This record gives sequence, C-alpha cells and structure tokens, in this order.
Amino acid sequence: MRATTKLVSSTHPSLHLSHPTPEPFIWNTLIRAHAQIGAPPNISSFSVYLRMRFQGVKPDFYTFPFLLQSCSSPSSLQSGTKIHAHILHSGLSSDPFVQTSLINMYSDCGNLNSAHQLFYEIPRPDLSSWNSIISANVKSGSIVAARQLFDDMPERNVISWSCMINGYVKCGDCKEALAVFRNMQALDGEDVRPNEFTMSSVLSACGQLGALEHGKWAHAYIDKCGMKVDVVLGTSLIDMYAKCGSIERARRAFCGLGSDKDVMAWSAMISALAMHGHGEECLNLFSQMQDHGVKPNDVTILGVLCGCVHGGLVNEGREYFDRMSEEFGLTPMIQHYGCLVDLYGRAGLIDNAWDVVRSMPMKPDVLVWGALLSGSRMQGDIKTCEFALKQLIELEPLNSGAYVLLSNVYAKMGRWEDVRNVRYIMEAKGIKKVPGCSMVEVGGVLHEFFIGDESHPESRQIYLMLEEIMKRLKMAGYVGNTREVLLDLDEEGKELALSLHSEKLAIAFSFIKTTPGTPIHIVKNLRICVDCHVAIKIISKVFEREIVVRDCNRFHHFRYGSCSCKDYW
Ligand code: ZN
Ligand code: ZN
Repeated sequence: MRATTKLVSSTHPSLHLSHPTPEPFIWNTLIRAHAQIGAPPNISSFSVYLRMRFQGVKPDFYTFPFLLQSCSSPSSLQSGTKIHAHILHSGLSSDPFVQTSLINMYSDCGNLNSAHQLFYEIPRPDLSSWNSIISANVKSGSIVAARQLFDDMPERNVISWSCMINGYVKCGDCKEALAVFRNMQALDGEDVRPNEFTMSSVLSACGQLGALEHGKWAHAYIDKCGMKVDVVLGTSLIDMYAKCGSIERARRAFCGLGSDKDVMAWSAMISALAMHGHGEECLNLFSQMQDHGVKPNDVTILGVLCGCVHGGLVNEGREYFDRMSEEFGLTPMIQHYGCLVDLYGRAGLIDNAWDVVRSMPMKPDVLVWGALLSGSRMQGDIKTCEFALKQLIELEPLNSGAYVLLSNVYAKMGRWEDVRNVRYIMEAKGIKKVPGCSMVEVGGVLHEFFIGDESHPESRQIYLMLEEIMKRLKMAGYVGNTREVLLDLDEEGKELALSLHSEKLAIAFSFIKTTPGTPIHIVKNLRICVDCHVAIKIISKVFEREIVVRDCNRFHHFRYGSCSCKDYW
C-alpha cells in the first residue's frame, strides 16, 4: 500500500490559500514523470530538481513528495537523505504532506529508526502520518509496535485497518487478522468500510488458516457489498478456495474471471491444481494459458513443476524445467531447482537429484536439502539422509525436526552413540520439538488440537470417540505403524502416542460435531505421518466420510479408503 500516491493526488489544503505559479507545476510534473520511470534519482528526477533550482524556481509542497517517490529501495537511502536535507533547507519540513512522504521514503529504504524519529517530531500527526508509520512498522515486520501505534491513534480509516489486517497476515498470525477484521466490521462509517485491498488480505488469512467457512463468508460479503471481483480479488479467491481444500470452488472463481485473466490468475489456478495433485489437469491448463497468448512467469513454472512433483510426472517435469530458460527466457531460481530435486527424490532417482544439487548455480537452501532428505528417506538411502540432515542443521541450527530425524536415522543404523550425541546437542542448545497441531473449523469456529491435547472443554467426549474410532479401525485390519515414532518409547507407548496425534483428535471432534456424511477439512502444521495417513484412509472407508487434510506440503483427499496423493507425499 503506497500512501504517498494517494496523498499527492488529492488537493493539498494549503493550496487553497496560495496560488501556485505554473512554473513549479511544470517542473513538478517533470519530476514526477522521472520518478515514476524508476530511474535512479541522482540521474533523473533529482537532476530535474537541480535544474529547477538553478533556474531560480522555488519548490512547493508537491515537489518533494514527487521527488521522494523515486527513493523506494534501500539502495536509494543516500539520495533520500540528500533530499531530506534539501527539504530542511527549503523550510517545508513542517508540511504534513512532506512529512508523510519522508516517513514513507525512510520506510521504503528500510530505515525504520529515521521514520520513527520523523514521526515523533511531528507535534500533531495527521491520519496519513499515523498510517505511514504503522505501515512502516508492518513492512519491517514489527507487528507488535504497529499494533501499539494502531491502538494509540486517535482516529482510524480503512487504510489503517487494512494495513493492520495485512500486517497480521504477513507475519502469519491469521487468527488475529480475522479478529481485527471483525472489530473493523463492528464499526459503522463510510471511511471504515472494507475495500478490495482489505478483502484480499482477509481472503489470504482464510486461505492460510484453511478456514473454508470463513472464506465462503468473506466471498459472500464481497458480493453483498457489490465489490467488483477484478483480477486481483479473483486471484485471491482462487488461492483461498484452493488452500481451503475446495478445488471445485477455486475452478468456479477462475472461470468467473472470464477473459480478464492475467498471468497471476492463471498461475494461481495452475498452483491450485498442483497442490491438490491434479498433475495432468495442471499441465493442460498450462498449455491452455499459452493458447490464450499469456506469457508464463517464474510463478507459473513453479506451479507447473509442483504439479509434476505431486503427480509423479518425472519426464514432464524435467522437460518443463529445460523449457523454462530455452523457450520462455526465464532464469530458474532456487525454488525451481528445489522442485527438480524433489521430483527426482520422490521417484527414487537419488543420483539424478544429487546431480541437480551439485550443478545448481546457487548454494542449496533449506528447501533443497529438505527435498533431498524426503527422497532419500523414502528410498532408505541412509547416507544421503544423514548428509542432507547435517546440511539442514547447519543452515537452521534450531530446527528441531532435523535433529529428531537425524537421531531416528542413526537409530535405524544402530549407531546408538550418535543417537545419544544428537539428543545431547538438542538438550544443550535448548531445542524443543515443534508440537504437531491440527486445526478444524466447525460451525464457523476454528478449533486447534495438539498431540495428546486435553485442554479442549469437550476433551472427555473426544477421547471416548477416539477410542471408538480406533476400535473400529482395528476391526477393519488396522495395525499402528510405529516406525516413525521417537525411539525411546516401548511398543505399546508408541501405539498410544500414535493414536493421540492431533489430526486423529480433530477427526474425533468433527465426528461428534457434524452429521454423518459431512466432509471434514483439517489443516496440519507438519507433514502427516505414515500412520495417520493409513488410519485416515481406513476411517474414510469405514465411516464413509470424505476427509481433506492439508499438511505443510500438500493436500490429501481421503475417500473410499484411498488418498488422492496415491501414497506419494
Ligand atoms: Zn500422525
Ligand atoms: Zn495422501
């Protein structure tokens, strides 16, 4: 959100008093034109400014905001500071428009301290200055400080509210984003009515949470308000529905865009199909997109590659990766290499995966090593496993998952000394396991469950139901798969630990709260374990329920005893 653009396009209050001569107007127009091209300020807009001064024309209230627009990245901080000096010299530094533009400039250039300093120097900051400083904090990830300012400000408009909602979405606290949105709605007034930008953030929050009911409600709200679903909002809808597990609704939102679809909308739908494991359809859509004359970008190709990964389409994946640079003129980024490693790893072609890792032009990151790890684990290639894990730990010394896996790998090899070592390091560094958490939305309310959780008010009934479910599963031939459980538990303990996994608790709760036949949507923060995967497959058959689980990697649609991932995740 760029507050500056809005500010300068409205009429400055002081201008009613003084009549600007045409001369600064022309210079300002020139400065703005140069600033908008995005050329470095010292050689374009700033040189126009210098010529203006040279000709004896005094800058006015518009000159500096326009000039500052050209400083929008950390590399232009020096130029921005220089302009700031000119502002102080010109005597315009107490003008609210100029002050707000300066706050925005320092924020865009990544200097939050200076932005704060400027803000606190303003005796009575106006709404725009408040919004700018909140936005500056949001941009730098200081959400707590942003909230403090938001709570302190004397009045708020739609920009303030949207900025806060967007801030919470960006830092991953989507529940709080929705809570702020609810507070916003409780207000009545023209300037606090949610706009397209607000709704796009709200949809994104629903998507991240996997809260389908909330998302459907937000969609209905957009329609009710008569907001035009343009390509941006439409893309947000596609993304939200896909992440909430409703590929059908995502398709409808995509079709609803008619001929308005741009590359982002196509890419969103391609990624949606990929996430849900519809590999073939994903590739079909990609060729349709090209038939429509839309040029793919790197997001599109990433979606296509993910489609190949989740659909197990090895040759196709390699082909698209090669076409990326040869045909579309795009340079593969680290994510694309990560996909390629994943593609080979899952297909059991560990040597090919290694070739990619060795030949990539950049240093492999966590995702690349993670992909190699998954592949080698699945294939039982312990050596590669160990190597990838060590790299992961080096990159993320506090990643508990990697340590746990490494100790399990050593245990499998019977290297008990190493197992103890890993545990010792974890303890010494104070690393704790990230607890598995599953979320389920029932009756428009989100319920969270952790492993072995007993904090839910209806905990007793949930455990009774779980017991009942496990009994029926065992009758249907289910045996707990204890291979992936931490090794210091005995067999019985292992099986018990498995039955308490958060997704099983969430399913038991949904069984209590919903009528038979209602599909269940669960969002899990970690990768679903082998045992839960087996168990849920049987549950879907025995209880005739469609269960959709989104884990941190992909979607699993369980129906009639099998999963859409074809046990390949
Ligand atoms: Zn599990
Ligand atoms: Zn699955």
